[in-house]
Parts: sequence; C-alpha cells; structure tokens
Amino acid sequence: MALIVQKYGGTSVGSVERIQTVAERVQATVQAGNSVVVVVSAMGKTTDGLVKLANEISSQPSRREMDMLLSTGEQVSIALLTMALQERGQAAVSMTGAQVGIVTEARHSHARILRIETERVKRALEQGQVVVVAGFQGISDAPDLEITTLGRGGSDTSAVALAASLQADTCEICTDVPGILTTDPRLVPSAQLMTDITCDEMLELASLGAKVLHPRAVEIARNYGVTLVVRSSWTEEPGTRVTAPSRLPRTLDGLELAHPVDAIEFDTDQAKVALLGVPDRPGIAAQLFGKVAEQQLNVDLIIQSINEGNFNDIAFTVEKNVLPQATGLAADLIPVLQGASDGNGDMEEPVALVSDTQIAKVSIAGAGMIGRPGVAAKMFSTLAAAGVNIQMIATSEVKVSCTIAVEDCDRTIAALCSAFELHQSPARLEAPALSPGPAVRGVALDRNQARLALRQVPDQPGMAAKLFQILADRGISVDMIIQAQRCRKRNGLQTRDIAFTVAQADADMARGVLQALANEFGSSEVIVDTAIAKVSAVGIGMMTEPGTAAKMFQALADSNINIQMIATSEIKISCVVAEDSGIEALKAVHTAFGLAGSQEIEVPA
Ligand code: ADP
Ligand code: ASP
Ligand code: MG
Repeated sequence: MALIVQKYGGTSVGSVERIQTVAERVQATVQAGNSVVVVVSAMGKTTDGLVKLANEISSQPSRREMDMLLSTGEQVSIALLTMALQERGQAAVSMTGAQVGIVTEARHSHARILRIETERVKRALEQGQVVVVAGFQGISDAPDLEITTLGRGGSDTSAVALAASLQADTCEICTDVPGILTTDPRLVPSAQLMTDITCDEMLELASLGAKVLHPRAVEIARNYGVTLVVRSSWTEEPGTRVTAPSRLPRTLDGLELAHPVDAIEFDTDQAKVALLGVPDRPGIAAQLFGKVAEQQLNVDLIIQSINEGNFNDIAFTVEKNVLPQATGLAADLIPVLQGASDGNGDMEEPVALVSDTQIAKVSIAGAGMIGRPGVAAKMFSTLAAAGVNIQMIATSEVKVSCTIAVEDCDRTIAALCSAFELHQSPARLEAPALSPGPAVRGVALDRNQARLALRQVPDQPGMAAKLFQILADRGISVDMIIQAQRCRKRNGLQTRDIAFTVAQADADMARGVLQALANEFGSSEVIVDTAIAKVSAVGIGMMTEPGTAAKMFQALADSNINIQMIATSEIKISCVVAEDSGIEALKAVHTAFGLAGSQEIEVPA
C-alpha cells in the first residue's frame, strides 16, 4: 500500500462540480489501494478576493491580520472537499495547518516550515481516513500559536513538506495544465509539456516555476528526495516528473531552514578571457560566442555587467587548455568591433583583451537560497574575513560563484566549509559523462525585476560583503548579482562596478542603501532601472553542449534585441533586456531551442 500526497490548486477546486470531480479522483486513488493525504488551496480566486477586501479597508493592513484573513480561504475548501468525500461514502477528515501541526517560523506572510508533527495525520490514515489538509498555512510554536501563511502559491510547499515528513511514496501536484511546460503558456501559446525535469533545473527556472510550482516546494523535494509529479487534475496523463538525485538523509528538524548550502565547489582548471570596451548594441555577444562555438569550445561562466556609456565588457571562462584558441578568437574580433563602434562617444577607448590563467572559481551550491538574501552575503563576508578579493561574481537560484586568485583557493574553501558547516570534502566540478538531458529544457521570463548598479566600488576585500549584508539585513532578496571584469582607477584606487537585480517592489529601498554606500565608498554613481526583463534558458545538457549560449545570443540578435547584462551558471544562461522586448525575447529563445510545438496547450481562463 502506497502513501500518496495529492495537492489540488485553486482552479481545480474552483466550483462545487470541480470539488466533486476531485473527490471522485481521490476516492479512486484510495480504491486502488493507497492511503491518501490531500492538500487543497482556496477555491478559485478566493485569496485574490480576500486581498482586495483588505486593501479596501487599509492600504497597509498588518501582516498578522492578513494571515488571519487569507488562511480562511483554505478552510472553506477542506471542509467542502471532505463533505464531498463523505457523501461518496469515503471516510475523510479535514484539518487546518494548526490541527496537523505544521509548525512554522513566527513570521507572518512568508513563514518557513520548521517541522510537521505527523502523529495525528498518521492516526487518521491508520483508521482508513483520507486526510484533507489546508495548504498555505501553519502555526508558530507555543506559546503564541500564531496562524501563519507561507507566501502566495504556498500550498505546493505544504504538500511537498507533508510528503517529506510522512515519507510518502509520491507527491502529486494536480493543477489546471497537463504538467510543467517549456515556458509560460499564457505568454507563448506554443509551449509544450515536459516529461521530466530535474529539481535543479526547476529551481533555476524559479521565475517560471514560481507560477506552476512554488520554488520552496522544489527545494524541499530536492533536499529530501521526494518523488514529485505535476499533472492535470482532470486527466489520467502522467504529467511531468520532477527528479532529484539521491542524497544523504537529512534531519526533518528545521525543514526549510537547515543547510541552505549543501556543497562547496571549486574549479582551478578555468582561465578567464575578457573583451573590454565592446560596443553596447545587439549582436556583439552572438558574434563572439558564435566564433567560440564554431570551434566547439565549451564556455563555463559568461558575465556581462552593466554598460558604461556605449560600451560593455564581456568576460568568460574556458578550460585552461583551450585558452590560446579562445584568446585567438577574441583577438580576431577586435578589429571588427573597433570598426563597429560609432567613434563619437567621449568615453571611447580601444577594445582591449585580457586573459588570466591564475584564477579559481569557487561556488556555494544548494537549494534553500531563494528568498534568503543572507546566504550570498555570508559567502561574501566569509571571503572578506579571509582577506580574499573577489574578482567576478555570477549568481543563479542554486549557486553563487566567485572567481578569485588561484593562490587564495585553498583558504577560501576551508573558510567556506566552516562557515556553512560542511564537513565532507568539497566537490571538484565535473561535467556529467553522458548528456543527461537537452541543452535547454525550458525558458522563463521575469518581468518583475529592477536592475541596480553601484559604479566604481574599490576593488578590495569586503565590498560585496558589506553591500549584500546590508541588503540582506533589510530583507531584500537579490536575484542576479554580477560583478564583471572592468577595472577603473579612481582617485588612485582600482575600482569595479557591482550590478544586481531585485524585485521591483524593493528597488527604492535598495536605491537608498546604494546611495548611502556610494558616499561611504567614494563610488561615483548609483543606477536604477526598473524597465527591464530577465530571460533565462535552463538545461542540464548545456554543460556538455558547446554553443548553447551562442545560440541564445544569436536568437536575441536576430530579433534586434540588445543584451544589457549576462550571467550564467552551469545549467542556466540569463540575459537582462529592455522590458518592452521581454516577451519577444522569450518567444525568440523558445523557438531557437526547438521547444515550440505545433499543438497549443489549453489553459483555463
Ligand atoms: P494552482 O492553482 O493549481 O496552484 P497555478 O495557477 O498556481 O495553479 O499554476 C498553474 C498555472 O501556471 C497554469 O495555469 C499556467 O498558466 C501557469 N504557468 C506558468 N508557467 C508555466 C509553465 N512553465 N508550465 C505550466 N504552467 C505554467
Ligand atoms: N491560496 C493561496 C494563494 O492563492 C495558496 C495557493 O494557492 O497555493 O496564493
Ligand atoms: Mg499554485
């Protein structure tokens, strides 16, 4: 007999008829010989309706009262679904988060789950009952026992956390589309169903995943090895499997808080190439990486930070043994690029090429960094405390990578292992022997970000640490951090620019932080741009497939879209573009990787 956790989203329980359909399906699962725990969301758009009501009464309702209000939505659906089950002769009992014992932090509106007390659910299951649990909500520890919510879309997280705590055989996220699609079907109607995707890929697609699957649900699935499936609430089709490599068992205590970082990785086999002062216009990255791809050279990190006047710097890393080829290619491009610049900017300098073999790439990796700004800040402050200067930074949802001087590598690893309490030996990154999947499995668009930059930050240990620690202390999550190659002398000091993106809602607060730091550091300028969009392509296969980045850049160039910033991880390439070209960029990249299908997937209104 298997134990299955099934979660039904708002649309799936949006009417009496749909609740009855769900009841029928749950009962069929029981009759097939399984024990079932069902997690449900509030009916239809109930939660949105409640938010609207609150806003009619107060422009800034307290978070506590919002939790009291929003948690009621799920209480309606658990009762109705349980009645529908009982009506069919199926023994069932409903439970709120508090009744189950879903214990969270005492932090309203974004609480993380600390542990789930499973005794009561287990007892009910043993009695042959279906347990219907309210998603999205929990309760803080005694003595306060405050009702909390997990953040919008959080029922997925309730379901996967229950599956992990109950050691369920499967967690099925049942929703209104057939599974996880190659991109958002509401933006790109030719999006197609994926049969499977790894948790790491899904996390890197967080901005896409945020809709169909709450990223924290994926983090829990990855960390606890939960078998996770996303499928339609209305058909028997298998949907999409979200897979995780098997890993060491970890404690269920501190479920969503313990060990956000589970590996320190390093690579001393990379060399860095940078082209400085290339024109800021469409097609440049495509040209450079097109040449690199022609020669089948595999690039690892690619970083393009914020433009300076009409110019950009593009830096990338390759394996040391192909450095001569890579620098040769880049050198060949210089006359072309030089000729291409318009020649009337007053900042114009000759295009320059630099390379460096004395670097190491050091990364922290793990599921649990999303929405936890303190994690990257801790990496930077650990390096600062060890006196290590950070040359380049590129971040993604599951990784923060820094390049440093190679002689600092051992010290850095030791410091990071102790800071993140990791005692197994650090992993030397190796590409998988067999290509485990397509180069690009899915693409995503995030239109909710703002881009900020602090120019000419002194190039010395501790600067990134200070900046990102202050942002973390203010609770501002930074999405993409880019520190590129460009170095400028200012008042006799070497300086670098640091650029990053945050949610638009946090842009003003972040601007204030930067302004204050600019004065302190003697930096020249703070830049804020909210009219941006981030397009990302994700796939494990890109680790072994040269030319993936080039293809993405070419697709954007063909649509005449200028790339404002680039950051990569091993399995993801993200480009910042102007907001008004976001959807076009998404479509272009989706098509370029052959993800568009001929049949449109039906998406309910
Ligand atoms: P539920 O109420 O079941 O939790 P959600 O509305 O939260 O459902 O998520 C499902 C919706 O996510 C789909 O209707 C679809 O519009 C949207 N979506 C966005 N991106 C994707 C994607 N890549 N794959 C599938 N659905 C997506
Ligand atoms: N009802 C909540 C929301 O609308 C939680 C969920 O649906 O997952 O965000
Ligand atoms: Mg949802």
